[in-house]
Amino acid sequence: MSGHTYLGMPAFPERSAAAVQDAQLRHNLRHATRTIRGKRAAVIDELPDWPGAREAAKEIKDRTLRHLDRYLVQLEEAVTAAGGTVHWAADAAEANRIVVGLVEATGERSVVKVKSMATQEIGLNEALESAGITAYETDLAELIVQLGEDTPSHILVPAIHRNRAEIREIFQRAMADWGRPAPGDLTDDPRALAEAARLHLRERFMSTRVAVSGANFMVAETGTLVVLESEGNGRMCLTLPETLISVVGIEKTIPTWEDLSVFLELLPRSSTGERMNPYTTTWTGVTPGDGPQTFHLVLLDNGRTDVLADQVGRQALRCIRCSACLNVCPVYQRTGGHAYGSVYPGPIGAILTPQLRGMQSELDASLPYASTLCGACYEVCPVAIDIPEVLVHLRARAVQESGHRAERLAMRAARWVLERPVRLTRAQNAAGRFRRLIPKRLPGPLGGWTDTRDLPPVPRESFRAWWRRTEKGDS
Ligand code: SF4
Repeated sequence: MSGHTYLGMPAFPERSAAAVQDAQLRHNLRHATRTIRGKRAAVIDELPDWPGAREAAKEIKDRTLRHLDRYLVQLEEAVTAAGGTVHWAADAAEANRIVVGLVEATGERSVVKVKSMATQEIGLNEALESAGITAYETDLAELIVQLGEDTPSHILVPAIHRNRAEIREIFQRAMADWGRPAPGDLTDDPRALAEAARLHLRERFMSTRVAVSGANFMVAETGTLVVLESEGNGRMCLTLPETLISVVGIEKTIPTWEDLSVFLELLPRSSTGERMNPYTTTWTGVTPGDGPQTFHLVLLDNGRTDVLADQVGRQALRCIRCSACLNVCPVYQRTGGHAYGSVYPGPIGAILTPQLRGMQSELDASLPYASTLCGACYEVCPVAIDIPEVLVHLRARAVQESGHRAERLAMRAARWVLERPVRLTRAQNAAGRFRRLIPKRLPGPLGGWTDTRDLPPVPRESFRAWWRRTEKGDS
């Protein structure tokens, strides 16, 4: 009953070629991204100093990442002092083992889940299912994805690829398998769909004693976790169950509450286009008689320290998952999120996934190329991640790490020629002399490059040669 996994998916070019043929998908994406883009632009424009706020957010994240070892220890001490238990997970397998063990220790066979891309990253639902534990997604869009046996395609709106009619069909077909069925006369009116989800989820909240969550931020000075959301379902998950297990990437740490205030200003504006999100839930360890009485925090590495070691690539860890870069990306708008084969789609996915997973698979090695390098993602990013810079950096790594001998040899030859002006002049002279012999289409596998590009005609003489010749004529 779990959603599909990303394992074994084909590379981006193959997936995106299929996605762009889907007219319904493109229509849904165009409509949704245009709406969110407009709302975001309006509330960003009204900020008195957006560049200043962006710079402050970038600085906080960079400073935290530089001293992450220290802040993580401070966080652990604060969470422990407040009555919580901290677990360290080096990779997905360890994190899953910890969470499955914690749920089994409660004796429960089901959990409610909210706000957790990290648990999707590690495939927690599948791990729980293997242990006979059912995970119920409670974020509305995640619920649609789960009922549709689908995978998320957007960071903020995981079911962005679905329209209302499709959601109604999914609710009617699948809700009964997971609990309270949808009403027989359900229409595709947004209020009717929301009401069906509310009744379905309410039953689940009232009967489930263990919750699994993520977090948007972890404040090191007090050990406080913070979740921002729009529906209130998160707050139900975070307050009603007896046991709360939060699985959070280590890069979500920030030092102080003062730092948090910068992100509370930037995140809602950049993601949903709101000045303030409707629900901000914070919790610190356990409070006797109020909320979950057992709290576990699983700190997830899963490749993050490797990303931190890369001087160019590490800026991806600043990401606060606002999804603004997805909504402006011309590639994402046409292909949708599934083509990226990861829980992190769009421009941020194209730089984060290959770094977290490595570039061994064809899919992960293809992701840094899933961009036109137009730079729109960088312009809107509230923490100023230079995504094009990282994409180019990862492309270089992909070539170095791959077995693309021909490309490596071609680059080495180009470097040899370009290193000395005299070599370049000789090469240009030779190219001009034999220009009629230069083929329009390169042979063998190199043809893939010329199939989609026109080779510019080679001139009879180089600009320098022409200049020398005509200058002499003038004098
Ligand atoms: S990279 Fe920047 S714009 Fe994209 S999701 Fe992360 S914070 Fe938002």
